Amino acid sequence: DKVAIISSGFEGAMISAAALLILYDAVHKAFTSEAIESVGIGMILTGAAAAVNLVLGLSLLRVGKKRNSPVLRANGEHVLADVWTSVAVLAALGLVQFTGWRGWDPICAVLAGGKLLWTGWRLMRESFGGLMDEADLTVEKELRDLLYAGCATHQLSYHNLRHRHSGRTHWVEFHLVFPDETDLHHAHEIATEIEAKVASLLGDDVRVISHLEPRSAEHQEERWELR
Ligand SMILES: [Zn+2]
Ligand SMILES: [Zn+2]
Repeated sequence: DKVAIISSGFEGAMISAAALLILYDAVHKAFTSEAIESVGIGMILTGAAAAVNLVLGLSLLRVGKKRNSPVLRANGEHVLADVWTSVAVLAALGLVQFTGWRGWDPICAVLAGGKLLWTGWRLMRESFGGLMDEADLTVEKELRDLLYAGCATHQLSYHNLRHRHSGRTHWVEFHLVFPDETDLHHAHEIATEIEAKVASLLGDDVRVISHLEPRSAEHQEERWELR
């Protein structure tokens, strides 16, 4: 739901901010050869993110296999790949403790910061995608209300509503079912009126296509429809 989506976007923003701090710290301290304290924070954040991703990735894989969903499985594998890079970063950070060579500090800080920045950016992007999907659901609900009202006025029904957008352009498609005896001229008039209402609901850049059919032929030769 929306709260989860926004909170994962917020999480992404926080992680990105932390990553930028670490990167700034690393670059700054590299020139002043001071110790980098933020590496510790970076390790904790990276470790925590890896643990969360491990649980998430494994459960996505499990559900994906159970539901036979390649999309879920791909997401799970993607998340797990994230875990391995986190582990690699943590291992690199561990070298600092063992070798004690100061030179590792900025290298590891940049690694951890870069990794976190990537994770944060991905979270924000996915959250944005989620919000777009939510917006589509809202648009679809409004379209259904409008079509329902328009059909009720003229004793029609509709089916096969489809809506998608690319960029700012909305594409809407639906079928209108008229009583058999309706005059074509009249049917076209009503369809045009409903199309205009749909277009004005969605703004400037809209393509609306309606398909007209008589009640007696509804679904007869349209078995390909996804209703
Ligand atoms: Zn149809
Ligand atoms: Zn026309």
